[in-house]
Amino acid sequence: MGHNHNHNHNHAGAFRWSVVLNALLTGVQLAIGFGFGSLALVGDAIHNLGDVVGLLLAWGAERLSARPAQGRFTYGFGRSTQLAALTNGLLVFGAGLLVVVEGLDRLQHPEPLVAGPVAVAAAAGIVVNLLSVRLFGGHQHLDLNRRAAVLHLLSDAAVSAAVLISALLVAFSGWVVLDAITAIAVGVAVMFSAWGLLKQALAASLDAVPEEFDLGQISGELLQVPGVREVSQLHIWGLGGGRVALTAHLICEVNGGRPSDSLLRDAEARLHHLGIAKTTLQLEQFGNPLPEHAIGHSD
Ligand SMILES: [Zn+2]
Repeated sequence: MGHNHNHNHNHAGAFRWSVVLNALLTGVQLAIGFGFGSLALVGDAIHNLGDVVGLLLAWGAERLSARPAQGRFTYGFGRSTQLAALTNGLLVFGAGLLVVVEGLDRLQHPEPLVAGPVAVAAAAGIVVNLLSVRLFGGHQHLDLNRRAAVLHLLSDAAVSAAVLISALLVAFSGWVVLDAITAIAVGVAVMFSAWGLLKQALAASLDAVPEEFDLGQISGELLQVPGVREVSQLHIWGLGGGRVALTAHLICEVNGGRPSDSLLRDAEARLHHLGIAKTTLQLEQFGNPLPEHAIGHSD
């Protein structure tokens, strides 16, 4: 696809092609899956549909989260990325469950299947995913996200390959139940990957400490600040788009204590170094807690 003279441009191009190719593939697979009786192919299509919707939601949320904070939305719109992941995870999980339930039903009531078109559509799935790997993996330096994307595309190609093999076996053996078995396996795989996504999105919705941060390490770092004796009410949560907020009460030495502004600057610099830019710290004197601190203390 020409020269890679502009990294960002190339990335956007790869993204757009990936969406268009996968959307076309989804449409073809759904039509052939329903038209020629292959539930396994429908399962593969539903997975691909989840990928397309996920890509579009992530794209929309990224655009939305770039908008500045305004009015009542004092945090901005960064968490729309979490909402997008949650919505997509729920949709895909539900779709995978439907395929499994329908597959179990077809084990008992097998339906006729025309293997030829199903095999062609499954082969198309392999081609599109391998083509997408080329689009995304054309660079020498793959960052972690891209590597995950490439791994995902390869596993998608493997799912299509399973559907293709199943269709060929049905063509040779006439054993149509194999399609239902493959569909159940595909449905379980879809539910499994959606569950991973859902777990992350739910944790973020519950304001869990983002996975890349270590609560103990951050609390230890604050205790390293000269003059700080205890740390309480420590909260760390994601604002979306990789931004992280922290609030904490620092309980300070009474005697030989430092001026509070220098102590605060020190603590903020350490947190900044750990990748936390948005901090709200409250200082208290040891042995003289504030009323709300006494009520809200957890230990
Ligand atoms: Zn996928």
